[in-house]
Formats: sequence, C-alpha cells, structure tokens
Amino acid sequence: MAETGVNIEKAKATLETGGLVAIPTETVYGLAANGFNATAVSNIFKAKNRPSFDPLILHSNSIEKIKSFTKDIPEAALALAEAFWPGSLTLVLPKQDMVPPIVTSGLDTVGVRIPKHPLTLQLLESIPFPLAAPSANPFGYVSPTTAVHVNNNLGTKVDYILDGGACEVGVESTIVGFPNGVPTIFRKGGLAIEEIEKIIGKVEVQATSSSKPSAPGMLEKHYSPGIKLEIGNIPELMKAHQGKNFAVLSFKDIYDEVPAPFMKVLSKSGDLTEAARNLFAFLRYFSEVKPEIIFTELLPENGLGTAINDRLKRAAAQ
Ligand code: AMP
Ligand code: MG
Repeated sequence: MAETGVNIEKAKATLETGGLVAIPTETVYGLAANGFNATAVSNIFKAKNRPSFDPLILHSNSIEKIKSFTKDIPEAALALAEAFWPGSLTLVLPKQDMVPPIVTSGLDTVGVRIPKHPLTLQLLESIPFPLAAPSANPFGYVSPTTAVHVNNNLGTKVDYILDGGACEVGVESTIVGFPNGVPTIFRKGGLAIEEIEKIIGKVEVQATSSSKPSAPGMLEKHYSPGIKLEIGNIPELMKAHQGKNFAVLSFKDIYDEVPAPFMKVLSKSGDLTEAARNLFAFLRYFSEVKPEIIFTELLPENGLGTAINDRLKRAAAQ
C-alpha cells in the first residue's frame, strides 16, 4: 500500500526528486511524474507496463506555462482552452524541444491539459514543471476514479497518493488535435463533442480504432475489467443465457429478477453525467464479484453517452 493523504508538500517533494505521485483530477486519477525529467517519466511507463509508443499528456495549471513548452498554437485551440480549461479537454499541440521525446513517443506534438481539481491545481501551482500523467492503472485495465482503486492496482509502485475523493466526471478527457489545421477528436471523453462544436464549429472525429493509433484510447481493446462483456438488448440477453452466472450493467432500468449483487444501474434517472461517474467503479465492482459474463447496453449517443459507449465497446472487445 502506498502512503495516501492530502499532503501537497509531500507530493511536491516526491515529484521534485523524480518520484511518482498519483493525482486526483475531475476525469480519472493520474500517475504523475515531472514531465521534464525523462528518467522519472520512464518510471511511469514501467509502473503501468505501458508500451513506449503510447504518448503521455502534460498537465499544468496555466496557459502561460503551457505556452512555454508548446508553439504555433492554432486559434481554435486557444478558443477551446479559453472556454473549457480547467476541464476535461486535452489539446494536442506542436511541442518545443524541452519536452523529452519519451513523453510524446517521439512525436513532434504533445497533449496538454489543465485539470479541474483543487488539490491538483494547488500542487501544479507550486511546481515550475508540468506533470506527465496518464491514467493511474495498469495498461489496458479500467481507469481509477478513487484513491482506493489506485492503491489496489499500483499501491506498490507509486510513492504517494494524493487523495482528492471520487472523480466528478469519471471518464478520461476528450482529446482534440489539429492535423493539417483541422480540429479533430482523437478520443471521445468527458467533454461532449457538442460543447466543442458550439465554440469552433464542426469537428472531424477520428476516435475509431486503427492499426497504428495516435492515441491508445483508440486501441480496440482497452478499459478491460477482465470479465467478458456483451452489449445488446438486456432482457433478450438474459433470456438467451438463462442459468448462466451473469451480471447486468444497465443504463437506467433495474431488473428485479437479477440478484442485487449482480445488478448495477448507471443512472436511475437516465442522467448521462451520473452514468459516466459510475461507469468505471461499477466495472471494477463486477471484476471483484466475478460473474461469468456482464450483459450491458449502449446509451443514447449524445453528450457523455458517446464517451460511455466508446468505453463499453472497447471493454467488450475480445
Ligand atoms: P491516458 O491518460 O492513459 O488515457 O493516456 C493519454 C492519452 O493522450 C493517450 O491516449 C495518448 O495517446 C494521448 N496523447 C498524448 N499525446 C498525444 C499526441 N501527441 N498525439 C496524439 N495523442 C496523444
Ligand atoms: Mg489510460
């Protein structure tokens, strides 16, 4: 178990000496190191067992600091930063030389974000360097939304866990890049595409999987709870698999015939924001209850429903 608490001084001292600190953000917990220290960053990859082709996001507390290690920021990116930071938006921007290649997997762009969590913002204000921080989970597994999740997965590999409570948004940030100047969604996430389009107009969406993903959120299999997940019409799935030891993860309906420990409802009122907040914790819960299979369904494909459906499909991928 790693030491856990709200000691910002301790977190700061650990990061200054090249250590790893788990940090709360509004999206998910991050596994952070000094983003300008290549050795410290390499320890993130080791702790997560993350492939080196998978670039990290640099977190900071101000646009001024971000401008000091990026360049040629498109107007649309500035407009989005102005509108949504601090918040669940990552911008992929051209990088300056001081960003070590290990952070960006050798790319000449870097993902940057100002997260919205008071503890982490306070920590970021107190240090001159940005924090490289992917989600604080083993590569491919479900992202952590509480300090306990981090401790369960990486408790022996992280030096300190800054405990900021349960994450408010619950899914990773929306990633926007500007290939050839065209605003493009690289990962669907905690900021709805509709909100982005209100500021800069229509955007491209490239968030589907490909053989050579530029964002690992794009890998077909990701966010895996380690239990088979089947997406479909829940009553039909239950009927077709009578006698099987299944669990149900529904959007808003409760099925009384399912024993309570095997039934989780993402949001009884059908609220997509609440559903996103619950998603990863419920997948982790089922990975402990260990049903043979989880039956689930797609949510409305709007607002945060888009990001939730993306995570469900990847969790279900074999
Ligand atoms: P994680 O926090 O574990 O979800 O990982 C950070 C995400 O940001 C990954 O999906 C990265 O691929 C993505 N990312 C970081 N930098 C870049 C970049 N330069 N181009 C495209 N995606 C990036
Ligand atoms: Mg991740």
